[in-house]
Amino acid sequence: MSFANHCVRCDGVINDTNDSEEHVLPNSVGGHLKTRRFICVRCNNETGQTWDKELSEQLNFFCQFFGIIRERGEAPPQRIKTTAGEDFLMQAGGGYKLQKPVYREVPVENGKQIQIQARSMSEAAAMLRGAARKYPQIDANAELAKASTSYTYPTGVFHHNPTLGGEIAGRSIVKTVTAFAHHVGIPSNECDLAIAYLRNEASLPPFGFFYECDLVDGRPSEVPIHCVAISGRPDAGLLLGYVEYFGLHRIVVCLSQSYSGPVIEQSYGLNPLTGQAVSVRVGLPFSVEDLQAIYDYKKIPEGSIERAFAEVVPAALKRSFEQEKTRAIAYATKYAFENCGAKKGEMLTEDQKARLPPLVVEGLMPFIQRFAARA
Ligand SMILES: [Zn+2]
Repeated sequence: MSFANHCVRCDGVINDTNDSEEHVLPNSVGGHLKTRRFICVRCNNETGQTWDKELSEQLNFFCQFFGIIRERGEAPPQRIKTTAGEDFLMQAGGGYKLQKPVYREVPVENGKQIQIQARSMSEAAAMLRGAARKYPQIDANAELAKASTSYTYPTGVFHHNPTLGGEIAGRSIVKTVTAFAHHVGIPSNECDLAIAYLRNEASLPPFGFFYECDLVDGRPSEVPIHCVAISGRPDAGLLLGYVEYFGLHRIVVCLSQSYSGPVIEQSYGLNPLTGQAVSVRVGLPFSVEDLQAIYDYKKIPEGSIERAFAEVVPAALKRSFEQEKTRAIAYATKYAFENCGAKKGEMLTEDQKARLPPLVVEGLMPFIQRFAARA
């Protein structure tokens, strides 16, 4: 005998025509594992555009910072504003790009000076043509010939507030745990607290953050893993879940306090930098009193979140430095060849060869100045 599956959100019967493939961990943060017969197409789209979207916006900084691999699409560049007032877009792995071009008209002794900072030569050309329409005395082509390219780093510093949560992202978190429970064969009627939270806006959030000890056994060092786990203990009546994002955000979820199914313990870990599964085991040995303390933010000892960051952030900074070094060398080499006077497809003259080394150094200068302190 088999029972029809009902949608986790709208309770509608799921059949072959309205079934959807649900990412257990959202695709936006690099999730791969999928489950079916869990949520209807309509609710999958709606929760994707609300709950999961909010969660991915909160986690986007880390998606870019760590350089995750997504199954579909790329993580959008993260906007950052520095203390010097600059607007940059952070690229995957930590590189930076100007958020928008800069156009300034600066009064000087005999009139005005126009300063243009563009993200590419074609953008600079378009801006110069625009300026020439306003000031016909400007010879856009002559000015463009004088333009030079350089690579810019932010001069100011920026701060990221790494908090996760709220009612909307919270529902994405609870949905992830419930999807995993479904995936390992727990019927949704056993997940009463989670389902009530997903269906009713007035329900209290059945989750909290936990940093008192590391619940993940087999955690690979320096890897910002995602994981999701389920633990069902009918003797205690508890069906508990756990989600972790980037090894940083560690969340315990209570799916039911009247669990009567079989004893179960299942965990799934993922390295979002490679898309590979990671073998982990998550223990959730909590009582109802522990859960209340977790909900009340009492299981976050002083310095524990910082320790979680220290496990994954330095390695990521090192990776991003190496990536930046490779990019800077490629840029400097290209810059030197483009400016030594050689033509494509022709042999370099002795004179052009002699011009290369100083041009390479010039091209590397922004990188050298930025990272000299690390050498
Ligand atoms: Zn539905």
